[in-house]
Amino acid sequence: SEVNCAVPSCGKKQSLHCLPSDPNIRKEWMNLIFNEDPDLVGKNLVLCSRHFTTDSFANKAQFNAGFSERLKLKEVAVPNILYPTLYAHTIYRCTVNIL
Ligand SMILES: [Zn+2]
Repeated sequence: SEVNCAVPSCGKKQSLHCLPSDPNIRKEWMNLIFNEDPDLVGKNLVLCSRHFTTDSFANKAQFNAGFSERLKLKEVAVPNILYPTLYAHTIYRCTVNIL
């Protein structure tokens, strides 16, 4: 099945991250994506790495050095980049982090 980044203008299919379990942090994700906190959200909702700053990842250095297969989001990471511009620097890897 096809899974895309939930940001409508993005739709990226690689380097995707599932919703966090903490309800407060979830809420912050929703506020960025939908500008509100909707009652119903698909459980397959994912965001790609482009919407997070570098310090959101627990293993950015290892990943860049090739020691990690996938970027791992810190549990408290909140996305804050709705319209990423650094497309050229994106590393494409097919990953979905299952919580
Ligand atoms: Zn995206």
